[in-house]
Formats: sequence, structure tokens, C-alpha cells
Amino acid sequence: MAKLLTARDVWKSYSGRPVLAGAGVEVSDKSIVGLIGPNGAGKTTLIKICLGLVRRDRGDVSLFGRDPFRDPRARERVGVVFERPNLPSSVPVSRFLEMAARIYGAPRERVREVVKLAGLEGHEWKPFASLSAGLKQRAAIAHALLPEPDLLVADEPTSNLDPVERVRLLRLLEELRKDHGMGILVSSHVLAEVLRLADEIVLLNEGKVVARGSPEEVILRERPVVRIRSGDPERLSELLKNSGFEAVWDGVYVRVNLRNVDDVPKLLETLARAHREGVKVYGFDMVESGLEQVLLEVVKAG
Ligand code: ADP
Repeated sequence: MAKLLTARDVWKSYSGRPVLAGAGVEVSDKSIVGLIGPNGAGKTTLIKICLGLVRRDRGDVSLFGRDPFRDPRARERVGVVFERPNLPSSVPVSRFLEMAARIYGAPRERVREVVKLAGLEGHEWKPFASLSAGLKQRAAIAHALLPEPDLLVADEPTSNLDPVERVRLLRLLEELRKDHGMGILVSSHVLAEVLRLADEIVLLNEGKVVARGSPEEVILRERPVVRIRSGDPERLSELLKNSGFEAVWDGVYVRVNLRNVDDVPKLLETLARAHREGVKVYGFDMVESGLEQVLLEVVKAG
């Protein structure tokens, strides 16, 4: 896979206050990278530096083989969507796209194509101001797609959307990758929503990358909890502790904190042994402690 964007060891301070401290992100073609972090982590600053819109203090950035700050041609193959899209408010979206297509030298048919690609059909003749937040974001994506970019950069595209619009927008990003082979860099402060579609997650906190890897690798940082219902919870807790587990009876369940998913077979063996020894086990399930927790824990650890 060809690298579309590489940013390494990027540093940036505003008025002496560090905002990025050695952060980086890379995007290959046909892949989706999720840049995740709480508000103020430095996501937008890193994205703007990657696009050459903000000057970095230090670090290497290559966008399609060029330094985007020195050479604006680096941005020719990039479509960009920001958190709050702002197209001319009273002009029908299609009219605006036609004007923009002329400016970018895109053929007129491209307008119809991007309206379809962005799922804007039926709404393209409405003025931008009259569209819902989700449709405004789609209009911005249609605009970004006009010059047939190979890389789409979307900074918090879902943050102002309701849950249904969020899901639709994320699905649209997935389609753009799958059907059009686009590389996508999408930022969000919600880890869970990006986990489903990203090939790689980069967790950013206080200007530093605190974790990066496939969604599976990031999820595995989570310590799963198993809840067990038992006829003799106190004895079961003892047995589990003797086998090396962290077990607590909370009055309803015996809760076992697993170190990782490989602990599961050992836990099942221990439960089977407990059963043989007369400690009844009525049922158990695994609680995902919430993927947001992963982010919090990783951030704390970082
Ligand atoms: P995120 O996108 O993760 O919310 P940002 O990159 O927008 O984070 O902001 C990171 C930090 O940098 C914030 O504390 C923000 O106030 C600060 N910051 C961003 N842009 C500027 C600027 N132009 N001048 C001063 N501080 C800024």
C-alpha cells in the first residue's frame, strides 16, 4: 500500500504552550485511520499541520511526497471536511457545486456524481442553510470529492450529528474507501464509533500519541470483566483467588477482572472445577467495560 500521508515527530506550541509534542500519523491508500482523542488533545492542529494550513515548529510531514506547508500542490489530491461545514447559505447546493467544479476544472457531470456519492440526492436543490446537520456534512463531502481526491481528511465530521446521522455518515466514509479506494483520515473524540470502520487507530492525548494499532490491538488493552452468578459466591471467590484471579463478590455477582482474553480458558477450567467441588455456577457473561474506558485508561497510562 502506498503512503499518502506521513507525519512524524511533529511539535507545535502556541505562546510557549505545547499543543503537539512529537505526534504523528500515517495514512496509506485504501485505508481508514481514526485519530482519536479528547477535546483539546491536538487533533485539529495535527490535521492542519498535515494539510500545510498551520506551520509546525518541528517534524517531518509528507503529503503525496511533498511538504504541504512549502508546496500547496501537495493538497491537490486531498479532500477536506471540517467539523462545521460552511458553504454559502442561500445558494442551492448543486449551484454551488457547479460553480466550484468550474473553479477546480472538474467536468459538469462530476457534480451529479458527487451528489450521488455523498448520498445527497433529493436534497441537492435546497439551499445549504435549510439542510439538516447531517446533510450539511454530506454537502461538504460532495464539495470535497469534486476534484476526485485520493485522500479524504475529515476532522470530527460526526460531532454535531444525531446518532442516526452519525451512523449514516460513517457508513458513507466506509463506502468511499471500499468502492473508490480512497484513503481516509477521520478524527473523533468518540473512540467507539471509529473502531468499527478504522484499519488503524491513533490515540492522541495532550499532543502525544499514547497508543496506536489495529482496533483489535486497542480493544485488547481493555481488561474484560466476567460476571458470574453462583449458589456460593463467597467460596467461589476464594477458589478463584486461589487460582490467581482478581475476584470480588459485589452482592449479586462474582466479578472477575481478566488481564486479557487469554485468561478465559483458565477461568472456564476453574469454574468447572468449582462445580465438581459442589460450588454451583448458574451463569456467567462477559461485560465489555465500555470502549470509551479504553481511551480513558490509555490516556491515564500515557
Ligand atoms: P482537538 O482538535 O483535539 O480538540 P486542537 O488541536 O483544536 O485540539 O487544540 C489543541 C490545543 O491547542 C487547545 O488547547 C487549543 O486551545 C490550542 N489551540 C489550537 N489552535 C490554537 C491557536 N490558533 N492559538 C492558540 N491556541 C490554539
